[in-house]
Amino acid sequence: MALEFAERIRRIPVYPVADGYGLEGPVAMLASNESPYPPIQAVVDAAASTLAGANRYPDPSNAALRRKLSDRHGVPAARIAIGNGSCDVLLAAGEALLEPGAELVYAWPSFSVYPHLAAASGARALQVPLDADHRHDLDAMRAEITAATRLVIVCNPNNPTSTALPLDEIADFVASVPRHVAVILDEAYVEFSLLQDPEDSVDLLAKHSNLVLLRTFSKIYGLCGLRVGYALCGSEELRTAVDQVRQPFFCNVAAQAAAVEALDHQDEVTRRVERNLAERIALQDGLRELRIESADSQANFVWFDLGEGREEPAIVQGLSQRGVLVRAGGALGREGALRVTVGTQAENERFLEALGALL
Ligand code: PMP
Repeated sequence: MALEFAERIRRIPVYPVADGYGLEGPVAMLASNESPYPPIQAVVDAAASTLAGANRYPDPSNAALRRKLSDRHGVPAARIAIGNGSCDVLLAAGEALLEPGAELVYAWPSFSVYPHLAAASGARALQVPLDADHRHDLDAMRAEITAATRLVIVCNPNNPTSTALPLDEIADFVASVPRHVAVILDEAYVEFSLLQDPEDSVDLLAKHSNLVLLRTFSKIYGLCGLRVGYALCGSEELRTAVDQVRQPFFCNVAAQAAAVEALDHQDEVTRRVERNLAERIALQDGLRELRIESADSQANFVWFDLGEGREEPAIVQGLSQRGVLVRAGGALGREGALRVTVGTQAENERFLEALGALL
């Protein structure tokens, strides 16, 4: 007899994972918005030094990391939630806030995990189309907020379209959302944006107890393989709630140590941001030579329409055969588009050459 599953299992979309992890040889991994640069040695050493003590559970309160983040951002440690990747905090927030009858508002296309939140909880999702420049349409999102809304998510910069909004527009939006509605500002890529300093949005927390900033060590810090992210919360209640719905030891000992160490190397962060920017500009210039105009990227990836008559699956497959992995827009909410992570100079050139040959 077949197993009987909960109804939500039929609703929850399967996360569109990148393939190619099993490919042999040098592959340009440009499908998952990872950092092409490995963590620095001090961070590797900090993580490795914890392994000999792995017979003990990790600190369930993540005290050292929360203290460090508290010092860095000037947010009380009691309002900082740690997660097994920022996705963990995001899903926990969905679990804590949503239920049948509740509503969730977010833009679309946006991060492919957001649909999971409504599907898992039985809440209703309102997906608000991006504007013609692939940006959040905040007025249209505000218009979808009702008495049933529990959570609004704004992804800035937005995955998969790479665009960002200036912080003053975000600030006005947050101020216009009723206080009982949680606003998650997903800032997984904020360090890459030229439109704001990452610390600027932190100031909004003092004014808005319903605001949550979602941050990660996966992107600029290059630690996605260890899984560690965090949320800076405008109030302690949300941090308590996300801790309540999760298993106790959600962040492993190596990840906690690596994150603590990584925060001490902000000069490396600056270097990586600069390198990414130079490569992003070169990548966009290369696309322009192929007559492709990409969206105004403020992240470590670019997004573009392939143009009339070009078959996206064939292009993605052709690139893969040439050892270049990218993301098909169709799986992310827009047929005919591609999302390409900014890699090293050599990887980007390999991608451009392969794309040129296919077009
Ligand atoms: N938010 C956005 C917008 C993302 O693109 C990602 C990763 N792709 C995440 C959150 C989650 O990242 P992590 O769980 O690795 O912190």
